[in-house]
Amino acid sequence: MTKFNIARPEVAALHKVATGPQDPDAIRLNANEAPETHWFADDEQALNRYPEARPTVLRAELAKLYAVSEDNLLVTRGSSEAIDVVIRTFCRAYQDSVVSMPPTFELYPYFARIQGAESIEVPLHDETFAVDCASILHACKDDTKVIFFCSPNNPTGSVVDARDILSVADARRGKSVVVVDEAYIEFSEQASLTSVATTHENLIVLRTLSKAYALAGARCGVAISNREIIDIASGVLSPFSFAAPSEDYVLQALEPNRMAAAKQYVEEAIAERDRLSKALGDFELVEKVWPTDGNFLLLRVSRQQAILDSLRDRKILIRGYGEHQGLKDCLRITVGTPAENDALLNALKDFDTQ
Ligand SMILES: *Cc1c(COP(=O)(O)O)cnc(C)c1O
Repeated sequence: MTKFNIARPEVAALHKVATGPQDPDAIRLNANEAPETHWFADDEQALNRYPEARPTVLRAELAKLYAVSEDNLLVTRGSSEAIDVVIRTFCRAYQDSVVSMPPTFELYPYFARIQGAESIEVPLHDETFAVDCASILHACKDDTKVIFFCSPNNPTGSVVDARDILSVADARRGKSVVVVDEAYIEFSEQASLTSVATTHENLIVLRTLSKAYALAGARCGVAISNREIIDIASGVLSPFSFAAPSEDYVLQALEPNRMAAAKQYVEEAIAERDRLSKALGDFELVEKVWPTDGNFLLLRVSRQQAILDSLRDRKILIRGYGEHQGLKDCLRITVGTPAENDALLNALKDFDTQ
């Protein structure tokens, strides 16, 4: 297989860690593990043993979930780790750059800086949060290696048209990879680019079990792309990193009854999101509620700090944003259970009439 030619040369030259499954009946004297478990719980796990270098069963199940081939998918500890891995795969320190479009997820510039890559930020349009493809391409340098789209975008809830993403990817062929972070796609009617990414030359889609599958604590996400990109990014991901108990929990989450629960959660979150959006729009202190495709709402309010303080006193946590993020006086509210959402609305009602 030829190496994807814009990866860091030292990454392209890595010798791969062996990742095959192990014979469960073998006498294992090869890994300096303790020979027996000291763990006597009912659901005893062989925690004295290293997990597989790559979780093969989990990878196969996630490939089924996302309807792609196993070779097109890399399992990571949350999609956050996939962001880090992609940047480290492609960006040479003090030379290369990444592009993101704020207000968006903070981890794109964060991991870029850790890698010593420049973070180029091309703001979304005010108010509509639309992306501007011409500005993105204009801001790209020769050594821009990674371009991050987030759709639906956190924290604006806006989506990016697939045609825009693909036009940027096409314009940057041979120079950059385009990453589409689809952490909230299950809450949206927007079509996923997952299957497109398996054959596209420079497109990577990130998916996660943290949101729609209610599994943030297990830390499981995936990067999906063509085989060449997955193969080379796999060299950057540390071996044996996916904890065995996490793999067990994720496999359980993918069983039909829990999949049904996830589907039900998504439906309820969408219904509650619409109810919350309408109810919030009626408050005098709410200046604007943006449409959203996520499991959260972005609004602009008067008296932002007072609202945050008042809610915190009532042990209700929401997220405040400021001018430096391009979101002056804005709040992001995650859709909770109907009872939690009622508690929020009641607290705001009291505040509104004070
Ligand atoms: C929550 C979120 C993720 C998911 O992070 P995990 O590491 O998978 O838990 C990724 N991208 C965005 C934009 C998010 O909001």
